[in-house]
Amino acid sequence: MTAAPHKDSTPVTRFAPSPTGYVHLGTAYSALFAANAAGPRERFILRIEDIDTGRARPEFETAIFEDLAWLGLQWEQPVRRQSEHFAAYAAVTADMEKQDLLYPCFCTRAEIAREIAAASTAPHLAAGPDGPVYPGTCRHLTGTERRRRIDAGTPYALRLRVDAAKEMTGPLTWTDAARGTVDATPEIFGDVVLARKDTPASYHLACTWDDALQGVTLVTRGEELAPATHIHRLLQALWKVPTPRYHHHKLVLAPDGKKLSKRDKALTLRALRAEGKTPEDIKAMVGL
Ligand code: GLU
Repeated sequence: MTAAPHKDSTPVTRFAPSPTGYVHLGTAYSALFAANAAGPRERFILRIEDIDTGRARPEFETAIFEDLAWLGLQWEQPVRRQSEHFAAYAAVTADMEKQDLLYPCFCTRAEIAREIAAASTAPHLAAGPDGPVYPGTCRHLTGTERRRRIDAGTPYALRLRVDAAKEMTGPLTWTDAARGTVDATPEIFGDVVLARKDTPASYHLACTWDDALQGVTLVTRGEELAPATHIHRLLQALWKVPTPRYHHHKLVLAPDGKKLSKRDKALTLRALRAEGKTPEDIKAMVGL
């Protein structure tokens, strides 16, 4: 499967925030980092990653546009908003299902936690980057059982058969500006979710698909997302789309040294602006 080929070969850098809170210093750093990474004649795009319809809010999206413009950033129009493309993501997973790369998972969070607790000494249940690795409960359901549950209306996610996918692609690497050549080990996530129960996409699927569709050649993002690249690289190989270069950057920490969170209201650009800070002050505060 191939994403629509991108029309020109100009390098493309992107900033892809989720509108789940007001822009804080960490978000500002990440946006400035991405925009600075784009050379003067290169393209810089902004993408709104709002597939989590329970947490994404229009006022946060508006604030992203306002705050980044206030910082002096300019990006191409139109801006892609992921929640408007669920049908496209569903088509991607339908294609992967045909190749038997996905299976429906009916487990609730509680069931997964119980299963893990009951078998916590098993080595394959080690913690992955997103939490405990899924024990594979639904992987072994018979076709009849799957059909019965789907027909009964039981909600399900779609998980990737990571071992089958790896067998299909063979060994993979990517280039990271901070780490050099990295061997992809997507199995650290276990059978990762590609379509959630509530939306036909997960972050991994929507982000990787859109980076390919939009012809992104350099992905910059915080180093907390570096592990995700193991999965993204695998998806690129399965879909036969190009692999961008990656630059996972440092995180801006709160004054107490902890990770900044969207709850740190005092460090939102709105609050800092209200205090009289200028865009130049913000850049100095994040070390740019
Ligand atoms: N939307 C993600 C976030 O705000 C970032 C996605 C990415 O840069 O890959 O955490």
